[in-house]
Amino acid sequence: MTDFDVLVLGSGPGGQKAAIAAAKLGRRVAIVEKRHMLGGVCINTGTIPSKTLREAVLYLTGLNQRELYGASYRVKEEITVADLGMRTQHVIGREIQVIRSQLGRNRVTVLQGTGRFLDAHTIGITSEEDEERKVTAEKIIIATGTSPARPDSVDFDDRTIIDSDAILHLDRVPETLVVVGAGVIGIEYASMFAALGTKVTVVERRERMLEFCDLEIVEALKYHLRDLAVTFRFGENVAAVERRGSVALTILESGKKIPADCVMYSAGRQGKTAELCLEAAGLEADTRGRITVDANYATTVPHIYAVGDVIGFPALAATSMEQGRLAAQHACGEPVEGLGDLPPIGIYTIPEISFVGKSEDDLTRDKIPFEVGISRYRELARGQIIGDSYGMLKLLVSSEDRRLLGVHVFGTGATELVHIGQTVMGCGGTVDYLVNAVFNYPTLAESYKVAALDAMNKMRVIARLTAEQS
Ligand SMILES: Cc1cc2nc3c(=O)[nH]c(=O)nc-3n(C[C@H](O)[C@H](O)[C@H](O)COP(=O)(O)OP(=O)(O)OC[C@H]3O[C@@H](n4cnc5c(N)ncnc54)[C@H](O)[C@@H]3O)c2cc1C
Repeated sequence: MTDFDVLVLGSGPGGQKAAIAAAKLGRRVAIVEKRHMLGGVCINTGTIPSKTLREAVLYLTGLNQRELYGASYRVKEEITVADLGMRTQHVIGREIQVIRSQLGRNRVTVLQGTGRFLDAHTIGITSEEDEERKVTAEKIIIATGTSPARPDSVDFDDRTIIDSDAILHLDRVPETLVVVGAGVIGIEYASMFAALGTKVTVVERRERMLEFCDLEIVEALKYHLRDLAVTFRFGENVAAVERRGSVALTILESGKKIPADCVMYSAGRQGKTAELCLEAAGLEADTRGRITVDANYATTVPHIYAVGDVIGFPALAATSMEQGRLAAQHACGEPVEGLGDLPPIGIYTIPEISFVGKSEDDLTRDKIPFEVGISRYRELARGQIIGDSYGMLKLLVSSEDRRLLGVHVFGTGATELVHIGQTVMGCGGTVDYLVNAVFNYPTLAESYKVAALDAMNKMRVIARLTAEQS
């Protein structure tokens, strides 16, 4: 008899949902988590703090109101880190309470400390006082997430040269900032600080950023960020970052030198497996600390599962949660349907981006004929009311059977709006549904109908020309 039926390592979105799903199935469940980290990276250093910071930036700078009230509109003239931190700490505190209460209500035992495998069914949990206790479990789910990769060549000091964890603890809003790496995290923070008035330079070794997104939308984002005084250095490698007093000098391989109050490295993340002693359970991780799993999230040791960022792509809170639930169901012998194949992607830049399904590039590469329907927020009454003239929604529609193949949104509410398209696509819906549907007025959701009509009109012209020819 083991101490627990299911033991989960890590309480981020993957671990939480795994633990609760197993508990709902009547299993004896425990979750192991380090001190001050309940809720994982998601609640403490990643998703929630960054999204709350973004909300505080938008509110205090009044950026979204400037189209209506003028370029000088601000809610607060001097925005301090205390103003920004207050909202972040408030939300983190509330979210931790919610998680603690959910785990408690579902009778999930929380074991505080750092877990490691002693054998394939035994976990040693080391407390802050360095005392180790042993617990055994029939099934184990690893959900230990990632931490920012810190290249050895970079001399991080958590003040001038920082990663995305330390950016939440800056003691002032920097006047100048270099962001190394134009991935999602790097570009989200670049846009927040640019909105605060920081002069931001983004250095990226590739020639483009956010390659998985629609090119037209990435171009629109770049235009907006340049308007907020962001400088892009694409196709450039960092040769060295030197500290000079209270500032840092970023030296590029091309010879350029960029002085800044702060340099944020956002150069990928590393799976948190080093402390787990995976070999004691007969497991191993790759060079980036990631664990390989099968379609049911089982590792090569069948009673041990792994979910969330520690298994790699797409490394999002949304997918981690679902992976956790599915792994727990499989571990408990329940039927499992598998992760839906239409996960949306949300990028909380300013303005925000979201999409679901295929991009124009994907469809062109795969030789799938499609038509594009576009709606611009400035042509919607709601767009005028909220002062968003740049937002747009783009539908990609199959020219053969009129099914929706992709939805790409840029601007206010993009990450919410995308779910309408996701639902239509998930139900195999065609553009006709959107053409005939009545939407609340005035809303941004109406953009679906406008874009659908646009696509429909273009398809009608082609159908007429084709009919005339034959
Ligand atoms: C700045 C930033 C912004 C992000 N924004 C978004 C977003 O907008 N939307 C989105 O969907 N995703 C976002 N993400 C990604 C999201 O945070 C992750 O996908 C998600 O947190 C992964 O969940 P997880 O369950 O794998 O574990 P994590 O949240 O990474 O948590 C893992 C937990 O395991 C614990 N742990 C590790 N090792 C041990 C051990 N040996 N013993 C005990 N406990 C251990 C850690 O302390 C940690 O609490 C963002 C990430 C970052 C960094």
